[in-house]
Amino acid sequence: MTKKFVIFGNPVEHSKSPQMQNAGLKYINFDGIYEKHHLIDGNIIKNIFLENNYSGANITVPHKEFAYENADIVEGIAKEIKAVNTYILKDGKVVAYNTDAPGFLKAIESFGKVKNVLLLGAGGTAKAISLALKEKGIRVTVLNRSEGKLEFFKNHNIPSFSWENFKPDIYDLVVNSTSAGLKDDYLPAPKELLEPILKNASFAFDCVYGKITPFLALARENNCEIKDGEDMLLHQGVLAFEYFTNTKADNKVIEAMRKGLRGEKIL
Ligand code: NDP
Repeated sequence: MTKKFVIFGNPVEHSKSPQMQNAGLKYINFDGIYEKHHLIDGNIIKNIFLENNYSGANITVPHKEFAYENADIVEGIAKEIKAVNTYILKDGKVVAYNTDAPGFLKAIESFGKVKNVLLLGAGGTAKAISLALKEKGIRVTVLNRSEGKLEFFKNHNIPSFSWENFKPDIYDLVVNSTSAGLKDDYLPAPKELLEPILKNASFAFDCVYGKITPFLALARENNCEIKDGEDMLLHQGVLAFEYFTNTKADNKVIEAMRKGLRGEKIL
């Protein structure tokens, strides 16, 4: 029987996950279909998942925390992050994972060895990235516009600051995990604060994908090697795909999924 997979989000219309996942399924001849579901109430995510006979799901904004709360079993680093982006149905139970965190680590592999990271932003993505880095033994400092969201990081012994009380150090990688630059032309922190940091850094990564954000443009002006969030989206998707299909995705499958993500033909 054809297996059904889905992405839940609000909004979800813009999501590139279906074209990426369907490209992977097609490439390995898996009898499955991956669709979009505009979910308004995250509290009912598990019921909707079960009622529609989905075998697996991805979860995007704003439902990752609801998905965590509703899962029967939470695996791995997601237990600490308290937000999940992947569900699979296993022996009648909804098992949940966070693949954003390992997806991010995979995406920064191309920079080589990184030791000290400045992470801009303190939202759900920053939680996943900071714990992934910490688990890898990479030093991470969080810098956010406001104090409000810093408690999580303090509770995990991750140095975290708002713009007002921040004293910069030297970092080899600066990551933008804020939504500044997504739909506007803002930098994620004031230019006078950011520019000297980027001057001393080697690499800059933006979780936003498909464009050179003002952050990446400033990093490039200051001679950083830059990278947008496409690989993060790809690799979180590849890891979810492996859970969905119970197969290991080799480089050919990964490239098929990248083509799918970019809207290119795969076969
Ligand atoms: P959240 O809404 O949870 O967090 C947003 C963060 O951005 C907050 O810390 C907020 O600060 C900060 N922020 C928002 N606007 C500004 C601004 N103008 N200047 C400075 N700081 C700002 O978002 P998420 O963590 O879920 O997502 C963050 C970004 O990461 C989004 O752009 C999203 O598209 C991208 N993303 C990419 C992925 C990928 O695979 N490539 C995966 C997941 C996310 P404050 O606390 O002060 O409000």
